Amino acid sequence: MAYSYDDQNIFARILRGEIPNKTVLETAHTLAFHDINPSAPVHVLVIPKGPYVSFDHFAAAASDAEIVDFHRAAAQVCAQMGVSLEAGEGFRAITNAGAHGVQEVPHYHLHILGGRPMGRMVSR
Ligand code: 5GP
Repeated sequence: MAYSYDDQNIFARILRGEIPNKTVLETAHTLAFHDINPSAPVHVLVIPKGPYVSFDHFAAAASDAEIVDFHRAAAQVCAQMGVSLEAGEGFRAITNAGAHGVQEVPHYHLHILGGRPMGRMVSR
């Protein structure tokens, strides 16, 4: 299946400034903001500014600069939120893709979750 980016998705609208967000960090290629419906005491979404649908799309199509910037920004978010292994007790970083991944918003995003033990990764 080809990657088809919908530029009306909610995160595209956040990136265009049409919808407000609670920004945690912004870099040249990446934006991180609090999830509107947090699943844990720390729940931050890290998104690339470029039009990528999913992790696999981003990894295949983004530039090296975007990929490095994204991962360094995500690690900085963990430190800033006090959940990195240096600053705290750890975190879970997850990304959902497509129908089986139960992805709601079709713009690649990494969920950074922490502030409590996160339990088992998936239900059986
Ligand atoms: P997904 O299921 O696609 O992996 O996760 C989408 C996430 O985006 C959900 O955790 C949901 O709460 C969050 N979300 C949806 N709409 C908004 C919004 O308008 N603002 C923010 N900050 N988060 C949103």
